[in-house]
Amino acid sequence: MAQILQQIIFVALFALAVWLFSRKIRLIIQSIAWGKPEQRSDRSVERWRNMLLLAFGQKKMFRNWIPAILHFFIYAAFVITQIELIEIIIDGTLGIHRVFWNVVPLGGFYTFIISFIEILSVLALVATIAFLTRRNLLKVPRFWSREMTAAPRNDANLILLGEMLLITGIFTMNTADMTLHNGEYGFAVSGLLMPLMSGLSEATLHFLERAGWWLHLLVVLGFIVYLPYSKHLHILLAFPNAYFADLDTTKGRMKHMPRIEQEIRLMLGQPVEAPSDEPVQFGAKDVQDLSWKSLLDAWSCTECGRCTAACPASQTGKLLSPRKIMMDTRDRLEDKIRFRAQNGSDADDGKTLLHDYIAVEELRACTTCNACVEECPVSINPLNIILDLRRFLILEESNSAEEWNLMFGNVENNGAVWKMPATDRANWAAEV
Ligand code: SF4
Ligand code: SF4
Repeated sequence: MAQILQQIIFVALFALAVWLFSRKIRLIIQSIAWGKPEQRSDRSVERWRNMLLLAFGQKKMFRNWIPAILHFFIYAAFVITQIELIEIIIDGTLGIHRVFWNVVPLGGFYTFIISFIEILSVLALVATIAFLTRRNLLKVPRFWSREMTAAPRNDANLILLGEMLLITGIFTMNTADMTLHNGEYGFAVSGLLMPLMSGLSEATLHFLERAGWWLHLLVVLGFIVYLPYSKHLHILLAFPNAYFADLDTTKGRMKHMPRIEQEIRLMLGQPVEAPSDEPVQFGAKDVQDLSWKSLLDAWSCTECGRCTAACPASQTGKLLSPRKIMMDTRDRLEDKIRFRAQNGSDADDGKTLLHDYIAVEELRACTTCNACVEECPVSINPLNIILDLRRFLILEESNSAEEWNLMFGNVENNGAVWKMPATDRANWAAEV
């Protein structure tokens, strides 16, 4: 009876976690579809290569070896532990114990896999402690800058603590089980931990084995439910984000605006297609004006702050932080999803990404140097969002700094940013 009750609780909890996860993921996918179309499905071979190198191989992370290796331990442990999770799901659903040992006897291969998981778990534990220390005791500046308020800091700490609980669950379960079976399974690390439990009664060992099993399971289910609300969503989204990344290697090349190009060609007397009569909005005011890839970028951001650490505007004390641009875009998407869920799918809360979330001063501080794009380990492009918002600011709201207006006038009248004819642009070089 107790066994059947356990199976029912397991299946109910598992189904609830999957339902909550898929409900939120569906909302996220719908919100990405709010974005403007952008072609990102060409050159599939290069895209697969990019994804394998950047997302799977974590290529950019290895610019800095120590955190990269520690991050790799956690990542590898997370991936490989899913094998043990498959066993837990089968055991929990069917009410059996260690299906891959007792029912589908994998023998030595099973011992090898679980031992491998245990060794990776120890390495992941070391990495987790190092990351918690780095964040909270050493206080690495990029984890404590302005936009890293209590919520994003707690998010990172929560996942790291969850990782420690998960590892505790695995070792409690395996060590108790090994002790009960006199080391029969031959697991590498829990075999070494057996002396810690050797004096315990059989009932206590059974209790510890079940406690470890449930702890492991509950942390995993909690993680599944929490993941779409956390920056750790990048564990899933880093892959499509790298696949759909801009493959154009030209550093810092900006997307042009076809309608502006048309106007310039007309001014230069070049042939152009007849302009359409449809009203055109330049740039972006809110999330639905950005491209779908920019919205995918926002959901994929790990909030690591590498972009902000490399940003010259941020380094010189300006208000701009490319990480904040991504976090604000995600916050705006979250708020819009919530508002529409409560007020109908077309409801408007009267707010916009520009002004209500991202200030003019932040946008003006960007030098368009592209350093943030170069630095990002998961192929995010904060510059695209900055440029789209800035284009709206200037072309739709005529809101630009006085010095810029002077420059725009010079470009329009002289074909140069300075107050001189285009033909004299290179005169300065005569004296060099
Ligand atoms: S492109 Fe703008 S936001 Fe990105 S690093 Fe350069 S100045 Fe900073
Ligand atoms: S945009 Fe990239 S580099 Fe910047 S915080 Fe997000 S993941 Fe890190």
